[in-house]
Amino acid sequence: MQEVIKQKQKRMLRLVKSTNAIKSEQGRMIDSEDYYKQVERYAEQIRKTSNADEIIGILDIVLSETRGLRFSNEVFTAQEQVKLAEQKIESLKDELEQLRGLVQTDQMTGAFNRRGLEDIFKREAARADRNAQSLGVILIDLDNFKLINDNFGHQYGDSVLINLVTVAKETLRPSDIVARFGGEEFVILLPDVDMQDALMIIQRIQNNLARNFSIQSDNQVLPITFSAGVALRSFGEHQNSVLNRADKALYQAKRTGKNRAIPALI
Ligand code: GH3
Ligand code: MG
Ligand code: MG
Repeated sequence: MQEVIKQKQKRMLRLVKSTNAIKSEQGRMIDSEDYYKQVERYAEQIRKTSNADEIIGILDIVLSETRGLRFSNEVFTAQEQVKLAEQKIESLKDELEQLRGLVQTDQMTGAFNRRGLEDIFKREAARADRNAQSLGVILIDLDNFKLINDNFGHQYGDSVLINLVTVAKETLRPSDIVARFGGEEFVILLPDVDMQDALMIIQRIQNNLARNFSIQSDNQVLPITFSAGVALRSFGEHQNSVLNRADKALYQAKRTGKNRAIPALI
């Protein structure tokens, strides 16, 4: 996937630079000397980054500046080329946005994957620091999942994972984030919550999951459960640090009987 982004990056570089053709065909300076210098700088930025978000951001700027050029009288004869360049930049941006979605998403559950989580964590952490807000970071691990797989099959196990994500998304606000951290572990980000609310929200997910999904065994109905470690990110705290604290709390939750959420130590 990274390779595909690299290829697109190259195409974009060629495209961004190709607007220079307008200059040589005109045989004179259009009023946008600055624009070309700017394009060079953008090309340099695109070359340096491997982050799809940043490339899309740069393309947005190039696009709006190219549009500005379209309305300049001095490039009247080059309008068709400018329009064409605009269309190409726009379609590349669309493709890149789709790719970014694929790169950041866990295909089975539709949750963000680890890579997606990293990007989103940075964004949410920056927002939290800027607004002096907390960020709830919850690590979830399904209970006895190996047993579920062993007794009901791997495919059934997969459907449990998919269902957990569906239930979590339905229970949470649109601004909350669900990511698959690995196997049967998930991370939930809750912007601007306190510990009491975070614990309550996790309990609500657990209740909805148990209501929606349980396994029948020996005439018994066994709810699917998970354990969780709940940490509130401190100002400036790195993702690894807060996840580490959540992980310790999760370990406590497992040790003290599973099917519970434990607040992390600061
Ligand atoms: P605990 O309650 O202590 O968490 O026990 P557990 O059985 O859930 O934990 P363990 O780490 O021993 O087992 C996790 C299992 O999750 C093992 C692995 O086969 C399974 N698993 C990981 N990824 C997937 C997946 O994508 N689909 C399915 N069906 N199972 C998976
Ligand atoms: Mg596990
Ligand atoms: Mg487990």
